[in-house]
Amino acid sequence: MKTFHNPHHAAHAGQQEMFRGRMVPCHEVPARLDFVLAELQRRPLGALHTPEVGDAALDAAIGRVHSARYVDFLRGAWAEWVAMDPANAQRDALPSVWPLPNRHGFRNDVLPFNFAARLGLFSFDSGSPLTAGTWTAARGGAACALAAAQDVVAGARSAFALSRPPGHHAGPDFLGGYCFLNNAAIAAQALRDAGHAKVAVLDVDYHHGNGTQTIFYERADVFTVSIHGDPSTEYPFFLGHADERGADAGEGFNLNLPLPRGTGFDTWRATLATALQAVSDAGATALVVPMGLDTFEGDPISGFTLKSADYFAVGEALAGAGLPTVFTFEGGYAVDAVGTNAVNLLEGFQQAAA
Ligand SMILES: [Zn+2]
Repeated sequence: MKTFHNPHHAAHAGQQEMFRGRMVPCHEVPARLDFVLAELQRRPLGALHTPEVGDAALDAAIGRVHSARYVDFLRGAWAEWVAMDPANAQRDALPSVWPLPNRHGFRNDVLPFNFAARLGLFSFDSGSPLTAGTWTAARGGAACALAAAQDVVAGARSAFALSRPPGHHAGPDFLGGYCFLNNAAIAAQALRDAGHAKVAVLDVDYHHGNGTQTIFYERADVFTVSIHGDPSTEYPFFLGHADERGADAGEGFNLNLPLPRGTGFDTWRATLATALQAVSDAGATALVVPMGLDTFEGDPISGFTLKSADYFAVGEALAGAGLPTVFTFEGGYAVDAVGTNAVNLLEGFQQAAA
């Protein structure tokens, strides 16, 4: 299994996020990727590459899942932020005002001129600081996702996009949850565009993949399934319930499998079997796995109790789907353990797929 890692990832390094009423150091830090890369050097699964995709192809792939006005905003956001006040160069941009989407409530169709208002329009939380290097890093992560999809299209059984910042909370028109560009969705769309008639996305991060769900919610050609902490108590709170099954042409092509905080591996594993049966029933010919490792018992912001050794079995089960598979790197905030857990999962997959 080749790994495509993002050489620009450390350009995105937020200083602080709003967490329970105070500013705290960011949970999503560059060391996360570095630990995974170090573990892959210690226990190689295949060649390590930086992605080589053309600018035009990458822009097109991003534009297939994100709106033009959102991409334009992200690309120019830092320059606008600093133009407001040169002192902003030392501070991250965080939103503080949002348009609630209630009917007859605030409008989101009119693009405000005010930067702070636009930052709120295109985001859903204050945990995702926008920094000088955010666009460069996010774009580099998307390149990893595209390169991994291309590798699978070329015949590889699997490929790993070691793409930081993560992506599965980013929607067509919004950032949030430490995510800016939806790497898993970019990979899934690239697989579709390369001829896979139906692609499945199976999200195993602790948190619901709300961005991915939103991107594909009205489509039958990408089946989205997510195993996650019950949103009635867990982030991202406002999406991820079991009764969200897709809409219009996508009716029946979204499956949410929420589990209560505190769930252990036996129940989680049985739920994974349910998800994999649904992937099989959907008739997908390729699989994308947004790979979050924040289901780990030691994760500081999550609530399942998987142990490091359990991730081998997760990888083995995913291999059992028998599909060409792209992994994208998502959450996992027990930084010391994230490399071990990620490589355990991928090694379990690779050994079972051999
Ligand atoms: Zn997560």
